[in-house]
Amino acid sequence: MITAAPEPRQPAPLAAPRWQQAWRDAVRDPRELLSLLGLDALAGRVSDEAAAQFPLRVPRGFVARMRHGDPHDPLLRQVLPLDDEMQPAAGYDLDAVGDGAARTGTGVIQKYRGRALLVATGSCAINCRYCFRRHFPYSDETAAREGWREAVDLIRDDSSVEEVLLSGGDPLSLSNTKLAELTDALVEAPHLRRLRIHSRLPVVLPERIDDGLLAWLTGLPWPVTLVIHANHANEFDGTVDAVLGRLRGAGVHLLNQAVLLRGVNDDVDSLAALSERGFAAGVLPYYLHQLDRVAGAAHFEVDDARAKVLHAALAARLSGYLVPRLVREVAGDTGKRPL
Ligand SMILES: *Cc1c(COP(=O)(O)O)cnc(C)c1O
Ligand code: SF4
Repeated sequence: MITAAPEPRQPAPLAAPRWQQAWRDAVRDPRELLSLLGLDALAGRVSDEAAAQFPLRVPRGFVARMRHGDPHDPLLRQVLPLDDEMQPAAGYDLDAVGDGAARTGTGVIQKYRGRALLVATGSCAINCRYCFRRHFPYSDETAAREGWREAVDLIRDDSSVEEVLLSGGDPLSLSNTKLAELTDALVEAPHLRRLRIHSRLPVVLPERIDDGLLAWLTGLPWPVTLVIHANHANEFDGTVDAVLGRLRGAGVHLLNQAVLLRGVNDDVDSLAALSERGFAAGVLPYYLHQLDRVAGAAHFEVDDARAKVLHAALAARLSGYLVPRLVREVAGDTGKRPL
């Protein structure tokens, strides 16, 4: 049979959300990244070995916030695999914070009182060179496996857990459906009082904060805190401000946790600008972390003495609530250790 009118064009029924397309479209070739930035001359310092160990991955929107032609750009430095990473450094290990020991196979890590951290997924939208994740793809040990069952059972049966932290990987790299599956199940745990999400996506892939995610957040029965992981003021732009505004509109508390990184933010001006720029976007500083000593990240280290001087100078300059706590994670401690 021939129909008189043409069929209306249907969108593909399983079309990926826009953010997933932006995620897939990320830059993965170091030479392409350098070429986009007019920095082809830097190609000689790129390490193919480092890139093979932990590939470059950076969303294009984040690349657009890098300064063209600046080899020292603080955003570029966080993602570019350099030959510095292959220099062996004493004290820099594969498992810097004892996660191997704390990992239970369920994707749940309980190190601190009242809190259970879920390794929700192994995926991230960006690969940060200083990250412990470079040695742990976490592909089989995530809590999302088998519909979150083991993780949810563990939390439901432990009434000491008041706060669930979604971490990873990046938990917001999971679909809205998958996230809702978890929180629907967590309602079985009446002792839960707070939900916390640690995610770099609002900053590195702001497209991720879509209507579905905001609807999910708005409907949750617990107060929600979202800890964004921004290390430099230049990571914010109008698009990031807008999604952070929408998150605040959904009642989410926004905090920032940064890592002190040599060549990225290890000066008072950069740290002050990070706090002030974040605050302008509705985010309060939480922690400034000393680097985890993971193999390949030694060239980012700022020694403790200098870290303390920087932190004191920051405290002398800013309002108290704009000064993050300077801490280090030490295996076996009952919480992050203040320096
Ligand atoms: C860092 C961390 C937390 C959170 O600690 P806060 O000081 O509350 O931010 C919880 N669980 C684990 C396993 C952690 O590593
Ligand atoms: S876990 Fe965080 S720091 Fe590590 S690669 Fe993912 S976004 Fe970057």
